[in-house]
Amino acid sequence: MNSRRGEKERDNILTKKLYVKTYGCQMNVYDSARMADSLAVHGYAPTSTPDDADLVILNTCHIREKAVEKVYSELGRLNQIKKARRGDGRRMMLAVSGCVGQAEGTELLRRAPFVDLVMGPQNYHRLPELLRRAEVRGVVDTEFPVESKFDHLPDADPASANSGISAFLTIQEGCDRFCTFCVVPYTRGAEYSRPVKHVEAEARRLVALGAREIMLLGQNVNAYHGDSEGYSADDGHSEYSLADLICRLAELDGLKRLRYTTSHPRNLSADLIAAHGDVAALMPFLHLPVQSGSDRILKAMNRHHTADDYRRRIEELRRARPDIALSSDFIVGFPGETDTDFEATLELARDVGYAQAYSFKYSPRPGTPASNQNDQVPENIKRERLEALQKILSRSQATFNTSMIGRTLPVLFERPGRHTNQLLGRTAYGQWVHADMSEEYRGSIADVVITEAHTNSLAGQAVVAHAGAATEMPKEAAARAEGQTG
Ligand code: SAM
Ligand code: SF4
Repeated sequence: MNSRRGEKERDNILTKKLYVKTYGCQMNVYDSARMADSLAVHGYAPTSTPDDADLVILNTCHIREKAVEKVYSELGRLNQIKKARRGDGRRMMLAVSGCVGQAEGTELLRRAPFVDLVMGPQNYHRLPELLRRAEVRGVVDTEFPVESKFDHLPDADPASANSGISAFLTIQEGCDRFCTFCVVPYTRGAEYSRPVKHVEAEARRLVALGAREIMLLGQNVNAYHGDSEGYSADDGHSEYSLADLICRLAELDGLKRLRYTTSHPRNLSADLIAAHGDVAALMPFLHLPVQSGSDRILKAMNRHHTADDYRRRIEELRRARPDIALSSDFIVGFPGETDTDFEATLELARDVGYAQAYSFKYSPRPGTPASNQNDQVPENIKRERLEALQKILSRSQATFNTSMIGRTLPVLFERPGRHTNQLLGRTAYGQWVHADMSEEYRGSIADVVITEAHTNSLAGQAVVAHAGAATEMPKEAAARAEGQTG
């Protein structure tokens, strides 16, 4: 079949419209893209509004705060659109996926009977079949199937939402750690690592689709222990650690940068720390959530490390890669947290000097052990503590960003900026940078002299190109950019 005829036939098949709204983390973003890929082969093309959609999927997150109520109120709005479409003689199917789907199950159909399909995060590969069943009556699928969804999802195609210059790749899912505040082990199930050859095959496809950077994803990604079957017949390993996987992927032609998230301090192994010093493609940035600086609270959270263990890990990382930029998650107002505990958190935040960090008020998650503790911290104290911590974290981020002014940093340009002939890219440390660059540099790494630092981004001038200038990166600059030195 010639390609024009192929395209035409594909357009004819794409008759239905799909709208996906994603809540939560990068893993949900990845899942949404994979769901869209699996529906594309069944004739669904993406649309940017629910108003003309034949299928709306809410891909939900249950990690914090009024997640469930937010979903129900969004469903109420969507039901109005659904009714209007029915009035026009067209059907809109409504599906809820992700962790709220998993946690609510049949309760969701009871409270919102107009929903057609409820499913958990492990069942996306069954989506086309579940939708067929849901055309007749409401379906709930929150099983944890024995087979992995990854083995059944179709390959991402060039139209996939996950086919950009920086792409996500989920390598690990679920968690066996059972931190006492966290729903993940209940909603995402037991820890599972994808086999190395599947991960590598997907990474190759992403690079062929244009990815120059891959972010490896997992709820506890550094617990990765993938089956190395097919690769290491005689090198002694039966399993790859995350460090082994990173070393292997770093060899892929065309792939310039690797990152991973989210990590647990207890799973930060010596080989992974060493990889930060040895593997040029592994970016000098690590999101390593600590949650609290108080040993008493860390114990109550079931984190299995102390604040000093964490500090020692940071020292080891900095010995391996002196310029590594660090990020973290913090929870304030965990049940029983005293002023003294909270002071220890502030002290740790000041000591580490984070390049960026996320901080949250503790939110009791139904079914988790901490939610049943009777020493819950009052809301106003949580709010005050959050403000105090965020002041320190913002100052630390500003210091880090300001320290970039005057430096020449390699930036991977990913997308157009707000102005004509402007591109947005990321430094090796993960900060967004905008610079005057012509479109041809999208997907390239170019040296940029940083001239301004803002709260969440930087601005700079490219050493190698300006709008409308030569499209070839000079050899010397290209060599520097390849080396990723900053
Ligand atoms: N696996 C990572 C780790 O061990 O640190 C965390 C992944 S979790 C999906 C993302 C972040 O959400 C956590 O690091 C934590 O700070 C926050 N979080 C999880 N449960 C929470 C809760 N009940 N209340 C407030 N924040 C919570
Ligand atoms: Fe949740 Fe992370 Fe703890 Fe697992 S390690 S239970 S994902 S906070």
